[in-house]
Amino acid sequence: MNSSVYLDYAATTPVDARVAAAMAQCLTMEGAFGNPASTSHHYGQAAATLVDKARAQVAAGVGAGPDEVVWTSGATEANNLAIFGVAGYYRENGRHILTARTEHKAVLDPCRELERRGWRVTYLVPDRGGVIHPDQVAAALQADTVLVSIMHVNNEIGVVQDIAAIGAICRKHGGVKLHVDAAQSVGKCVIDFAGFGVDLMSLSAHKAYGPKGVGALLVARCGVHLQPLQFGGGQERGLRAGTVPTHQVVGMGLAFELARAAPPSEAERVAALRERLWQGLESLGGTMRNGDAKQSVPHLLNVSFAGVEGESLLAAVKGRLAVSTGSACTSAVQEPSYVLRALGRDAVLSESSLRFGLGRFTTEADIDTAVELVIQAVSRLRRISGL
Ligand SMILES: *Cc1c(COP(=O)(O)O)cnc(C)c1O
Repeated sequence: MNSSVYLDYAATTPVDARVAAAMAQCLTMEGAFGNPASTSHHYGQAAATLVDKARAQVAAGVGAGPDEVVWTSGATEANNLAIFGVAGYYRENGRHILTARTEHKAVLDPCRELERRGWRVTYLVPDRGGVIHPDQVAAALQADTVLVSIMHVNNEIGVVQDIAAIGAICRKHGGVKLHVDAAQSVGKCVIDFAGFGVDLMSLSAHKAYGPKGVGALLVARCGVHLQPLQFGGGQERGLRAGTVPTHQVVGMGLAFELARAAPPSEAERVAALRERLWQGLESLGGTMRNGDAKQSVPHLLNVSFAGVEGESLLAAVKGRLAVSTGSACTSAVQEPSYVLRALGRDAVLSESSLRFGLGRFTTEADIDTAVELVIQAVSRLRRISGL
């Protein structure tokens, strides 16, 4: 396993060793294992102190206040809480939602479910580079629109949307809440929850060297209400009942702090690696880069290879190179990427694409190995198919 090159950081990242150590401290008798809600004794208080610290760490990394952080099990739950929470609370105000075709399934599936329950959903189509233009949002708002849900960084193509401009439009419209899925953004680009004018924002730890199974929904302290999805002990201001998992949130807090502490040179390093990867693959000919390169994070490269099938390509490099054809969540179903289809790629090219996710541990040698493996595989597959 360790002999293969890992270029699937957009699906998940390893946990930073410092994060793992801090998490372990919260689990045992000697550590802060107490229930953070049991503040009648020292054990609970010690845990509550760590949870507060983690809340501040997460908030500081994304331009929010600690009191705006609601812990969840990940970005999927945060998206569900935001979408069903707004739809439920404001159901008398209107039943129209605005989102985009290129959103993650954890946004699209809740929207589909709301359609089954009688809401109307508009799915904006991005331009060929994957960009949703703010004026598209302005044009699609209706009198009864209650929610706009547009992601920050796309998980398949890395394109960054202009959330500040979309936020300004939603503010002007009045009454409409803006939710942003920012699961892919931490450590890759600036997130300014308050400055963007966002009401709700979903975060995840495991895309940023934290553990799987924890995330948060940022809920702006003014102007937005949610109908909770689960009821119980009233934790998280009643918005998300259930015992807060100290070790998980401590891991997320430290991961976000480490992401914030990374020097700007790290983004430059990753950008240089991505260009090296693209130039290597481009030499094959018949390659197409997906997603607007000028408006994307440096950590993702999505390439279509004419004349080969993505699944065959994946199979040919399997064991040596960990990449994927699209998002991890949909790759069990072998259908062409709906994100690439939304960019106007035909079904054939959408099926012959690979997503390369670069990260903190990616080296130049990894890139060179990946280029070599993919060039060999594509050349062989093209020879076989006679193209
Ligand atoms: C990974 C991801 C999710 C899901 O996050 P989990 O924490 O794994 O539930 C949602 N949206 C985007 C854009 C993602 O990349």
